[in-house]
Amino acid sequence: MSIKIKFTLIIFSLVSFSIVVILFVSFLIQKNLLQKQFNENLQKTFKGLCYTCEGAARVKDETLIYNTLKSFIDTYNPQIIFAGYISADKDEPIIVVRDVGKEYEFKGRMFLQKESSVEKIVSSGGEEVLEYSEGLKSDDGEYLGSVKVGYSKSYLDNHMKSVMFLIIKNILFVGIVMIVISLGLTFFLTLYLIKPVRILTKAAKEVTKGNLNIKVGMRRKDEIGILSKTFDDMIQKVKQLDELKDSFVSSVSHELRSPLSAISGYVDLLMENINSGSINLEKAKKALSIIKDSVERLTTFINNILDLTKIKAGKLELRRSENKIENVILEVLSLFEPLALQQQKDLKVEIEPSLPSVYIDVERIKQVLINLVGNALKFTEPNGKIKIVARLVKENLLSKGYKIPVSNARDNFVEILVVDTGCGIPSDELDKIFDKFYQVGGTTPKKPKGTGLGLSIAAEIVKIHNGQIGVESVVGQGSTFKFVVPVYHPNKFGVFVR
Ligand code: ADP
Repeated sequence: MSIKIKFTLIIFSLVSFSIVVILFVSFLIQKNLLQKQFNENLQKTFKGLCYTCEGAARVKDETLIYNTLKSFIDTYNPQIIFAGYISADKDEPIIVVRDVGKEYEFKGRMFLQKESSVEKIVSSGGEEVLEYSEGLKSDDGEYLGSVKVGYSKSYLDNHMKSVMFLIIKNILFVGIVMIVISLGLTFFLTLYLIKPVRILTKAAKEVTKGNLNIKVGMRRKDEIGILSKTFDDMIQKVKQLDELKDSFVSSVSHELRSPLSAISGYVDLLMENINSGSINLEKAKKALSIIKDSVERLTTFINNILDLTKIKAGKLELRRSENKIENVILEVLSLFEPLALQQQKDLKVEIEPSLPSVYIDVERIKQVLINLVGNALKFTEPNGKIKIVARLVKENLLSKGYKIPVSNARDNFVEILVVDTGCGIPSDELDKIFDKFYQVGGTTPKKPKGTGLGLSIAAEIVKIHNGQIGVESVVGQGSTFKFVVPVYHPNKFGVFVR
């Protein structure tokens, strides 16, 4: 059963049930009101009769009493079976009957009754009769006589039934109209709710077929609108990942192909020289050094891929201990100094005196720093400046460059910054450069090739140190990459508690 039919059935059943309950309750209320009104009317007409008879009895005008009773019974025929009057001092009652010949039967019912009462009796013909009696008084409160009227119960019931039938007919009509309207409304409401689901399903089917050039683009401000926007964002992300994957595959192939072809070329050359017996030691040394470099490049690349896989699987274990950050920085400096000199770039360090020890895995933090300084050198033109700074965090890290504010960071973190005067990064790409395989496109025309893995690995390493990495950059002026690592607290086993 389709969701449209399910929805229609559920909503329709609920609405119909509510309509039936409401109409049933309103029927009960109307029935009670009607019953009450009916009894009141009966009482009123009877009291009216009594009032006229009382006036006549006071002046002892029996003709008037007879005429009143007669006109009463004529007016309400066939509802009234008999109407009678008996005076307090005369035995013979005045009686008017609906059916000729019944005078004697009902004459027997006429006796003086001082209090008002309603009594049910059965006539000789088997008809149920409701007897209303009332005592009549003079001005002094002396009893003058009493009036008695017999109503046909079956007539009253039938009358009541016919009125009830009319009410039920009206209620049924209203109910059917309401149910038909609610069915229509339910159908359109369901269509309104289901339509976006259909559109989304169609779009999702397109995506499973591999078509990523699709946009739902629903302009609604409700949850469905949010879902549609999330869906569009998701497709955008998948598209981006797809593009990243393609560029990664081409980068990986390039990264593997260049050192492999260098190795293969120089090995061939060496073998040729050995075979011809004319080996030149200088040239052989140069070839071997290029082969060694290429092997190192391949190893680093493969290690990067392995690191990333480990981090993704949560299997990267840190060997943390108390360490001085300046040792790590100086080691990285000595590693890059020859290259900076060769490329005519000014590389220097600025370490705040008496920095506290940090709680880090030295090799992993070195890896982060190597990546940042390596990038700074890679993206800075000759004569540019690169500075590595280390300082104790003096304020909460709510400053620009970090993604999440680190509260209470003061005195608990050491911050390391790598500042360069290189090409810089466009502001709209700052968020993405820590994504795996992401590389900024088109900032500099002859940008050195990489794999876009370094920063994502660096960010993960800093993250598992309970630290945070960030960047600030201005295109054409340079970039500042920075990260924080926790200060060593012996009592807390070095684990910083936020
Ligand atoms: P790779 O350098 O191998 O491409 P990274 O993850 O280290 O990968 O860097 C991702 C991208 O960030 C680089 O391709 C580059 O576009 C940009 N980037 C990183 N560091 C800098 C920097 N110091 N100056 C300018 N751009 C940088």
